[in-house]
Amino acid sequence: MALITKKIKGTEDVLPKQSYRWQFIENIMREESRAYGFKELRTPVFEHTELFARGVGQTTDVVQKEMYTFDTKGGESVTLRPEGTAGAARAMLEHSLDNEGLPVKASYFVSCYRYEKPQAGRLREFHQFGIEEFGTQSPVADAEIICLAQSVLDRLGLDQIHLELNSIGCPECRAKYNQALRDYFSQYKDKLCGTCLTRLEKNPMRLLDCKSPEDQAIAKDAPVITDYLCEDCENHFTEVKKYLDAAGIAYNVNPKIVRGLDYYTKTVFEFITDCIGAQGTVCGGGRYDGLIEELGGKHTPSLGFAMGLERLLMVMDAQGIEIPNNDSCALYIATMGDEAKIKAFELLRRVRESGLTAETDVVGRGLRAQMKYADKIGAKYSMVLGDNEIAENKAKVKNMDSGEQTELALDESFAEKFSVLQLADASGFQI
Ligand code: ATP
Ligand code: MG
Repeated sequence: MALITKKIKGTEDVLPKQSYRWQFIENIMREESRAYGFKELRTPVFEHTELFARGVGQTTDVVQKEMYTFDTKGGESVTLRPEGTAGAARAMLEHSLDNEGLPVKASYFVSCYRYEKPQAGRLREFHQFGIEEFGTQSPVADAEIICLAQSVLDRLGLDQIHLELNSIGCPECRAKYNQALRDYFSQYKDKLCGTCLTRLEKNPMRLLDCKSPEDQAIAKDAPVITDYLCEDCENHFTEVKKYLDAAGIAYNVNPKIVRGLDYYTKTVFEFITDCIGAQGTVCGGGRYDGLIEELGGKHTPSLGFAMGLERLLMVMDAQGIEIPNNDSCALYIATMGDEAKIKAFELLRRVRESGLTAETDVVGRGLRAQMKYADKIGAKYSMVLGDNEIAENKAKVKNMDSGEQTELALDESFAEKFSVLQLADASGFQI
């Protein structure tokens, strides 16, 4: 019985008094992605397992260890999305969005599911904001999405987040690089962790992403991809950097950034902070020119990024950024008597129509308990309606902070006058 009132390990509730924090960051993300021409895409929370196996990549930790996969009653294998790109690519192909003109630009908010060891900044259900852009190989697009990510972080008021940038080349440069990595890591075969031994065979670049400190120490002196880029990839990378320089975006070229997913090509990047401990990557992204073909579409060079919302909120807390809260009640109307209740009902509707939050007693409390409640919910103004106020058709609105009272007529002008009053108070002007 106790179990049903406990959430599943690695999941979190966002409580009503906390949700303004999420809405604040989501609104900024919506506004910024709109400014860059991205439109929201919503895809299902589960997809055919095969989509992720191919789209994320068989050799990744996500596919090998972290997916929530189950068989449906119909005997199909489905998986809760571990990330947003594969579903977006599937939707793009299924609806032939590329026929409507390229590039296809989509933004999304998704919940993601990964069976990982829960710890600070690492959950089993977490949330991402992301964007995907299908159908462009231009380095301008790479620089542009990095600018978009940077604008979001700036508008959230964050600092001490650095951009780590790399190019991991195309399959051609990677073949040579993988061989160099195999040669290098083979010397340390007896020291590598079990997972890395398999990586050495299947996808040696993954070794650079291993979280074990011993393997990281070995990886420190491994060959770097930037020495193996073909001319085309090298030029592409140079162009990306040129545009970032033009936009005044600081970056650090870091050949160790290879990203966790298999489908990346050329540009990869992460925004990392040191202020929330080990899980400091708040945004990861890059190019995945081979993905759409991998999923059965035509060659469609594409790119995108995803930000972890929980981690961003952690950084905002760590940096002491105050998030504006517009959720509190602007006006609480306390009532005495049936006539007052009906009058309050009518006034409240008008105040709410003017866009403000207004509440009254819906429990049947006495006056004193109503005022206590108004205090508890942090109402900015309160007003008491009783027989006298109804008879005189006016009442005093009280500023709960200053105690100052203002008399307002209880007619059609009420909502507008109240609105002006609270605006004037908020901005410090006298009316
Ligand atoms: P990490 O190296 O931290 O495991 P990742 O490379 O697996 O990250 P991505 O697949 O690139 O992460 O996902 C993009 C972003 O989503 C990450 O930068 C991070 O902010 C967030 N994220 C990833 N996994 C988790 C998780 N388990 N819990 C919370 N946030 C996560
Ligand atoms: Mg991971």
